[in-house]
Amino acid sequence: MTRVFKSLYPQPPELSTCNYYNFVFSRPEIASWSDWTAFIDGLTGERRTFRSTVARIETAAVALTNLGMVPGGAERIGILSENCMDYPVITLALLKLATPFVLFPAFGTVHESIALVKLSQATCLFVSLRLFPLGLVAAKAAGIPQDRVYLLHGRARGTHNFGDMIVQAKSTDRLATCPVDDRTLAYLVFSSGTSGLPKAVMISHGNLIASALQPIVMGAVVEKLYTPPPLKTDEGVHVSICFTPLYHAMGLHIYILRFFLIPSTTIMIPKWDLNLVLDLIPKYKVTDLVVVPAMAHQLVNSERFNTMDLSNLSLVGSGAAHMPSDLRARFTMRMAIKWYSEGYGLSECTVSAIFAPFPGSFGSRASHVPGMTGVLLPGMEAKILREDGSDTDFGEPGELYLRGKNIALGYWNNEKATKETFFPDGWLKTGDRFKADAEGRFFYIDRVKDTLKVSGVQVAPSEIETVILDHPGRLITDVAVAGVQGMRMADEKIPRAWVVLSDAGKKKGEKAVIQELNAWVKEQLSKPKWLRGGIVVVNEIPKSPTGKVLRRLLVEKGHVRSKL
Ligand code: AMP
Repeated sequence: MTRVFKSLYPQPPELSTCNYYNFVFSRPEIASWSDWTAFIDGLTGERRTFRSTVARIETAAVALTNLGMVPGGAERIGILSENCMDYPVITLALLKLATPFVLFPAFGTVHESIALVKLSQATCLFVSLRLFPLGLVAAKAAGIPQDRVYLLHGRARGTHNFGDMIVQAKSTDRLATCPVDDRTLAYLVFSSGTSGLPKAVMISHGNLIASALQPIVMGAVVEKLYTPPPLKTDEGVHVSICFTPLYHAMGLHIYILRFFLIPSTTIMIPKWDLNLVLDLIPKYKVTDLVVVPAMAHQLVNSERFNTMDLSNLSLVGSGAAHMPSDLRARFTMRMAIKWYSEGYGLSECTVSAIFAPFPGSFGSRASHVPGMTGVLLPGMEAKILREDGSDTDFGEPGELYLRGKNIALGYWNNEKATKETFFPDGWLKTGDRFKADAEGRFFYIDRVKDTLKVSGVQVAPSEIETVILDHPGRLITDVAVAGVQGMRMADEKIPRAWVVLSDAGKKKGEKAVIQELNAWVKEQLSKPKWLRGGIVVVNEIPKSPTGKVLRRLLVEKGHVRSKL
């Protein structure tokens, strides 16, 4: 019989289903934080208290209905924006209305954005000023009327913007929160899953509640072991900077969906910017820093970071990709932290599944050992299987499967990929290789799936392959992309393409083809997908009898510029 690992934490309470908005805002503690600063705009210094943020969300819900949105209706509202203080406002207002939103990456190319807007079947878009031209192009290609593209922040002549909509909707009436059931769609977020092109993961209100119960149950255990420092300012106990993207599960949950569960202050900046972050840490006496490993890498290589006062930092962690032990040691070397909170998860499980436990959480059980990722979060079950589906022994690597109420509903409009990833008995195939021990510790090994993580961003080889095959010059007849070891960071794989030249390609010459394909990929795809691992010309792409590309063989044999 297959061994099923169960979380070591107490079982989360069984709650009757409610809209996630009610779940968060019916918590009585929120009233006592009213005058504290919730958000600070890191560029302008503008501050919003908890009270003004909640009031703005309530009015935004009225403003959205003034646009014709019917609570619980069939629209899908696209958000295409860098981080800003109205990102939490619009997403939480839409949750209240039970109108699903779609989180579009803010740093995508025209090609990528059009594909995602079409895939999601969004019915209107809220776009930042910088991305407005892109929003219009993507909307047009996807058949969204141009007058249904609104500005989320900033102003431009002839466009409706969210700020003005809120001012005009000023009303003392509060809308009733739209009732939902467990499976009511809350939002769509993009993921490449275990293979293939990007897909839209469907997250429900039930998934959000299960996911929020994880830190609540874990927090109750931690509270018995640790008293946070007393409040010193009108800011929360925790002061953090939001630089991870809000269109990705990690940013969305830390800075929006779980944000109102504890009193904290977030400094919002549009995106990761090393120098700005280094200015803000001392300026606001930042206490919490949650990074992806590529950001930690930049920090430890910065002279300023290595000489600055880090004594306020009390909660530091990482997620979205594997944090190598040596990088983690260099990153935290000068910090007096009690707990390094690494989390593992994927969009398909809402946000997180495995988390480093606070020391002593389970007595002497599952204490920290080097290389450990963490233990299962409350309410989660896991199994680790060999390739043939049989069970692994303790300490033996295999593919991780997860089960819990936070497992997504499936992929939007993609039955095939849903069936391959989400099983009827509730198990999610993660595509990640782990091992676990008898005490319930989990250790990340590597990926079984083709998808790479570059600077914390998912990169699907098949997406790059499709773009290369679409090159109008027809310079190649076949292509395969896989991850090779990068120079920058241990453990980070970067994409490399292997191509077979067509007659036109041979005529043009290897060097010219490589140059053209590189330029084409840079035009069509965002930076993490650029072929930093190079392009190698080969005579043929190795495939299995069923036609599946043998990527591992390519990586093992494919030295730069050598032929297979
Ligand atoms: P995403 O859906 O974009 O969050 O990507 C999920 C994938 O990121 C997972 O399937 C893992 O491959 C990787 N990942 C996330 N967190 C970690 C972690 N702590 N250690 C190793 N890999 C991680």
